[in-house]
Amino acid sequence: MRILVVGAGPVGLMFCSRLSQGGHDCVLIEQNRFDQTFSRASTLQPATLELLSELNCLSDLEPYGEIVSEVMAWNLDDGTIRESSYRILSACTNFPYRFHLHQSILRERLIAELRRRSRCHLVEQSKAVAVHFDRHDQAVSLEVKLHGVSCLTQTFCGDYLILCDGAHSALRQQLGLRFEGYDLPMPVVRLSTPVLPACLEEQLAGVSYLQAAKRSLSCLKMSDGWRFVLRPSLSEVYEATADTFWARQCLADSFADLVPPRWWFSHPAKRDSYNVAQRYVSNRRVKRVFVLGDAAHVTNTRGGINMNFGLLEAYSLASCFLNDAGQDALDRWNVFWLGLTESVLMERTTQLHSGRTPHFLNPKNDELDSLMRSCLLDLLPYTHSSF
Ligand SMILES: Cc1cc2nc3c(=O)[nH]c(=O)nc-3n(C[C@H](O)[C@H](O)[C@H](O)COP(=O)(O)OP(=O)(O)OC[C@H]3O[C@@H](n4cnc5c(N)ncnc54)[C@H](O)[C@@H]3O)c2cc1C
Repeated sequence: MRILVVGAGPVGLMFCSRLSQGGHDCVLIEQNRFDQTFSRASTLQPATLELLSELNCLSDLEPYGEIVSEVMAWNLDDGTIRESSYRILSACTNFPYRFHLHQSILRERLIAELRRRSRCHLVEQSKAVAVHFDRHDQAVSLEVKLHGVSCLTQTFCGDYLILCDGAHSALRQQLGLRFEGYDLPMPVVRLSTPVLPACLEEQLAGVSYLQAAKRSLSCLKMSDGWRFVLRPSLSEVYEATADTFWARQCLADSFADLVPPRWWFSHPAKRDSYNVAQRYVSNRRVKRVFVLGDAAHVTNTRGGINMNFGLLEAYSLASCFLNDAGQDALDRWNVFWLGLTESVLMERTTQLHSGRTPHFLNPKNDELDSLMRSCLLDLLPYTHSSF
């Protein structure tokens, strides 16, 4: 069998990595160069670490990331702190921690691993522009525009096509798949700093959710510093996305009792911002085409679930192909993951809106069960199912 994959983001790469453990050929088509790097998602959840370990990719990643076991919610107004630890998952996983890693490094390492495997043909700087179905629904073909050659396209043929071409997928639109949901009115703003004052670093857990009357912010410890994730109000958007001043001022206000405000203005920091939405496709399968990852769902990024969910579903679909699943099983895969998208991904990420405290940090909930769900360990069994 020959499977075409569009998009060398983490999800397309996970699909190809799993598929190349078996006897199928795949062709991975990416519009950009493989060595382009953008800083985007940063959290690998325990369920994803289990899968990367099975693919023998984890040890390559370990030197580049940060193991984070402790998590806290800190109310800056009244000083209340609630803590939890991923260590309570020790009986359920070999990886009772989050692994904070820049998405670009995950991508780079997965590409390097695929280059070593002969059954995956990697095509870069080539943009997929159109999908065509065989009249008898026995195959699918993809028109690809070759980089730098203005009108030249090449046609690739395969038994199946997997679209992992991201949130703005043009091919999804061409297939007539609706991407229903809503855009969130405010962007997410991130400030990254290589250092923190020791007094603050001692107070924070590797993942810290901070709340004050006026705002909430998340703090993530990375291997190369700290990442602060802030959510401006509507009236703050212009200022928040203009330069670093707004974010620096938020941190100065939030930690005024611990850190002299001028500290935040006298140290290097990088800012970026991105828009968020809650949207998903109404169907994951159109004939011989499947849609995965951000092309199938985008969510609020709080809690670090969306990309991890995409990685799990990619592994799951590739496992179906490895098990030589027939058409009925593939249909069942479609219905099943569509259901999980609604009942798990959308539900859990909606709960994390507006800076609400994650479930496992709320003493009313069962801590172990809530933590398992927040890091998607409850979905792990489905990634090996043959449907
Ligand atoms: C600026 C930004 C910051 C983010 N930050 C966070 C964060 O902090 N935390 C978090 O959890 N998530 C974050 N996300 C979301 C996270 O990056 C995504 O969930 C993740 O990248 C999804 O992976 P993917 O493989 O599905 O899609 P993508 O990573 O978007 O990959 C899609 C790939 O397809 C390629 N492609 C697209 N169209 C074509 C075509 N026609 N032909 C060939 N190739 C094509 C693209 O070039 C790209 O390489 C962020 C996203 C953005 C945009």
